[in-house]
Amino acid sequence: MPDHARITLVRGDITTLEVDAIVNAANSSLLGGGGVDGAIHRAAGPELREQCRTLGGCPAGEARVTSGYRLPARWVIHTVGPIWDGGDHDEPATLASCYRNSLALAAQVGAKTIAFPSISTGVYGYPGHLAAPVALAAVRSALEEHASIQQVTFVCFDNANFQAYRALLAG
Ligand code: ADP
Repeated sequence: MPDHARITLVRGDITTLEVDAIVNAANSSLLGGGGVDGAIHRAAGPELREQCRTLGGCPAGEARVTSGYRLPARWVIHTVGPIWDGGDHDEPATLASCYRNSLALAAQVGAKTIAFPSISTGVYGYPGHLAAPVALAAVRSALEEHASIQQVTFVCFDNANFQAYRALLAG
């Protein structure tokens, strides 16, 4: 399948998506927070926090997997994005690692359809128009390595992120 057929964009709430795995923009404690993390924990139910507690946290750029509990998604892949600090502190490389490591973990558990939020572009302050090209390049390159993955969906909650992805995917 060509790459462009494997990447889609939607605007909305990632917790409602009927995909094999959704990715959570978590913090390094993995114990829940605001934004998309809070929404995922609310929708999955308290069992998610219980499982996350057993994982012992996660460094920025890495990923961990849990069940999805009450979510339509079977798995949640928790990844920790970089906190934006001007852009000269390896933020793009760390952000790319989030996407790469999340897809590797998805492939490892057998997930074929995966949805990503726009990692780090909320509380962590990464400018959306700079994060989108990093996310897209990392996903495109990881898809070349993981033939088992059929579909990656970028889920944008806000219009600015949605427009940034739409422009990139059209170009
Ligand atoms: P981070 O700490 O990595 O910045 P946030 O959750 O604060 O994480 O924001 C990451 C992105 O997730 C933001 O672009 C925000 O608009 C978006 N977001 C918030 N809630 C949801 C949701 N329910 N579904 C999809 N994306 C969401």
